[in-house]
Parts: sequence; structure tokens; C-alpha cells
Amino acid sequence: MTNKINLFDYDRKMLESYFSSIGENTFRAHQLLKWIYQYGVIDFESMTNLSNDLRTHLKENTIVKLPKIVNEKKSEDGTKKWLVKVDEKNSIETVFIPENDRGTLCISTQVGCALDCKFCSTAKQGFSRNLTTSEIIGQVWLTNKTLGYFENKKRIITNIVFMGMGEPLLNYNNVLKSINLMVDDYSFGLSKRRITVSTSGIVPGIDRLKKDNKVSLAISLHASNDGLRDSIVPINRSYPILDLLSACKRYTEGKEDDPITIEYVMLRNVNDSLEDAHSLVKCLHGIPSKVNLIPFNKFPETYFSSSNYETINAFRDVLIKSGIFAITRKTRGDDIDAACGQLIGKFLAKSKKHRKNTVELI
Ligand code: SAH
Repeated sequence: MTNKINLFDYDRKMLESYFSSIGENTFRAHQLLKWIYQYGVIDFESMTNLSNDLRTHLKENTIVKLPKIVNEKKSEDGTKKWLVKVDEKNSIETVFIPENDRGTLCISTQVGCALDCKFCSTAKQGFSRNLTTSEIIGQVWLTNKTLGYFENKKRIITNIVFMGMGEPLLNYNNVLKSINLMVDDYSFGLSKRRITVSTSGIVPGIDRLKKDNKVSLAISLHASNDGLRDSIVPINRSYPILDLLSACKRYTEGKEDDPITIEYVMLRNVNDSLEDAHSLVKCLHGIPSKVNLIPFNKFPETYFSSSNYETINAFRDVLIKSGIFAITRKTRGDDIDAACGQLIGKFLAKSKKHRKNTVELI
């Protein structure tokens, strides 16, 4: 074990304070960020615009430590999935989805998940631990390197979605620091609109995110009444639909042209009737939103199945006729188990009592 600080755990503000504390000008922090996140250089000796003394100080007192990619799978449709080892016992998964006009990286924020959504394979593993900032931003750094960004300076990852394993808003501080690094002009410099945090509905986290660094938001709604949502997304018992939708309204206040994405997994005979569609329309009244209908992706030991395409289309038509923008999300990478809800990584799950503790963190 080392108690040296890992520079990948620090966002710009933290690095600036650190450099001040050792008597260096804060612009050194900006130079360091550029080396790491724009040139992909993590060897202090190659950071030629830093003085010899500073390089020696950094070598003695800090580290630049990343998780390790231990496996890569490629789907027939071009989607790539990496298994990323974060410690001796735990690995998580990261997915890259190339499209004509963009490349989306789907990243994980926790090893496992505590929320127990009934249709999600990550939930089946239970919860192990939160990822550190270095493990979250590390997924972005490592995959950029693997895809050749640092060499060619051509962006391949243009969008980032927090839709991998875990609930991002229950690992708030580390997620926020990693978002700060994604959007910082000295670092990856992505636009806030191109970063999407997906949440099962952690209301206090939504309010904090609006204040701290307002990126795009997606809500895993999946049901339009509390009875059903309580049973398939149990966190609804802590933050019921009305509270969640009020938080969505607050999030969009003043920026109504920036809609929230509503995710709705289509589960056969569970939440896919025309009545459900009409009830969803009522829920979304007055909230700037667009709906993504997600065909359910199968995994072993699930008792759910996906609605068929006629049902999904009929459901979508109700939304569209009511003036709601709605699309059916394309399933990508399901031949390598990289589609929504199929990520499992590898880890030793902790007990259910751990779940309760995590849910109460905020
Ligand atoms: N914890 C975050 C990120 C999770 S994954 C959240 O809940 O939003 C991203 C999306 O995939 C969520 O909307 C999630 O509910 C959905 N999902 C989970 N399992 C799925 C499955 N088997 N098929 C389709 N979508 C699924």
C-alpha cells in the first residue's frame, strides 16, 4: 500500500490547491492536466515544461495509477466491451458504441449495484464498492488510448454516458470529479451536453448535480405509477414518482430547450399496455423530456421478456400523438453481452445489508 496521492483522483481545482500547497504556481496544474488528458503522457520525466525539481517532487510524492484493461470483446455491430480490473477481486465493464456521427462511451461508477432493479443483471450481483475518481476517469483515459485518440488527436469518443454498472448519484463526489475532468478545457474538454448521467431517481443527487455541474440527465423511470415502480425499481419507495418528476422540473428550470431523457424498458405484460402509455403521457406533462423506449435485454435467470415490436411501436405512437418525442433505443452489442442491463464484470458481492447503507448515503 502507498499513501502517495493518485493524480487521477484530482480534478482541476484539487490540483490547483495541491500545487499552491507546495509553493508552485497554479498554472502548473493546467500543464499537468494537458500532459495527462490531452497528450496521454503519464511519465513525469516526459513532462518537459515542468522544472526538474517539480518532476522530482511529483515522483516522490504522487502516483498516476490506473485500473487495467484485462479483456476486450468486439461485437458484430462494432460495439466494443472491455473488462477493467480495478483491484485483486473486482472488475467492471466499459462499452464503446460507434455510430456514423458519434462515438459513445458507456462507463461504470460502482462495482455491482445496490438498487436491485428487478430487470437488471448488474443488480443480481449485489453491491461491492464505489469506484474511485481514478477508476471512473481511468475508463475514459484507457479507452481513448486504446482507440488511438492521443496519437491521432481525432476524437473517437465524442459522448459519454453514465449507463454502465452502478448508480452514479450514489457515488456522487467521485462522479462529480470525473465529470469536472471530462468537461475541463485543460483536460478532455467535452461539452456538457455530450455527457449524460443516468439515474434510477436519487432526488437529492439530481438537485446537487444541477448546482455543481449540470450535464445532461436521463431518468430510469420504467413505470408511471408508484405501485408498479415500487416493485421493479425499489428505490421508488424512497423517492416516489411525484418527487422524482418535481426534481426533473427543477433540473430543467430556465433551460427548457435541454430536455431530460426518460428511459423506459419495455417489459412484456408488465409496463407495456396502451393504458401505461397514456399514464406516462400524463406523468410527463409539463416536463421538457424525450422518451427512450428500451427493448428489454435478456440475461440468464430473468423471468422478464421483452415486449414485441408491434407493442413497442403502438406504445410509442401514443406518446408521439400526444406531442412527446419518443424513440426506440437500438440494441447494440447484445452478442457480447454489452447491451443495457447486461453488464456484470467480476467481483465478490457483498451482503444485502450493505445495500441499505449505500442507499442512505445521500
Ligand atoms: N443506475 C443507472 C444506470 C444504469 S443502466 C440507472 O438506473 O439509470 C442504464 C439503463 O439500462 C437504465 O435505464 C436501466 O434501467 C436500463 N436497464 C437495466 N437493465 C436492463 C435490461 N435488462 N434491458 C434493458 N435495459 C435495462
